[in-house]
Amino acid sequence: MVSAVMSCFRIAVGFVAAVLAASEASAKPKPQPATSAGRSARPLHATGKTGSARASSNNMPRGFTWPPSQAMADAEATCEHDLDAASITWKPAPREGHIADAVTIEDGTLGGIAYAPVYGKGPYKLDCQLALALHAIGPQLYAAGVREVHFGSIYRWSNVRVGGKTKNVLSRHALGLAMDVVSFVDDQGREANVAKDYRKGDPLLLDVEQLIDASSSFRLVLTPKNDPISHKDHFHIEANPSYATAVPRS
Ligand SMILES: [Zn+2]
Repeated sequence: MVSAVMSCFRIAVGFVAAVLAASEASAKPKPQPATSAGRSARPLHATGKTGSARASSNNMPRGFTWPPSQAMADAEATCEHDLDAASITWKPAPREGHIADAVTIEDGTLGGIAYAPVYGKGPYKLDCQLALALHAIGPQLYAAGVREVHFGSIYRWSNVRVGGKTKNVLSRHALGLAMDVVSFVDDQGREANVAKDYRKGDPLLLDVEQLIDASSSFRLVLTPKNDPISHKDHFHIEANPSYATAVPRS
């Protein structure tokens, strides 16, 4: 693992209340997510993505259980191995909510992109699977000109909020698998702000939206285009792990 360095990702108890009130956080969910099938079938597939690891009807990743199953534990062990292999400066963090494998990123960098919080100092915990997904898409973001991502929140215990309505479905923020992004900074130092610039057709924001939408590492991206009510001021991006086919690392 890694030496202790300053970070914008380290543990963030208390961050929950500080973030983007306009997104999925308006209703405090019950301690356990809804489990009834079909109640909210495909609530977030606004982008039309058709990944092989499509989520179950309760918005959880395929194979997700709580507490985590052995298959999930195996998948997270593999994920941590992959972070090590990529020389990512991660540390384990205390579990919170339904984060299966909470980690923090010591230098705030994934895939060559610097991640910085808009609110507070952090550090901010996330699931290993989101860290790995951000690492995977990093080179593409970098090639598009992105150098920094300014996020409003990652983990928070909240329900899905989309189209101006809060669903009775646990958000993937509660799993540490989702990030709300307020702005992206390019290689010239220009900040493209979702709330201010997306409607103007900002090319950087449109490129990022397209890249994430096309990436198998991510389940979806919600933007002012596909959810102009609840996501008018940020991009909501979600990692797309599947625990159904996890194979233990030998
Ligand atoms: Zn979100």
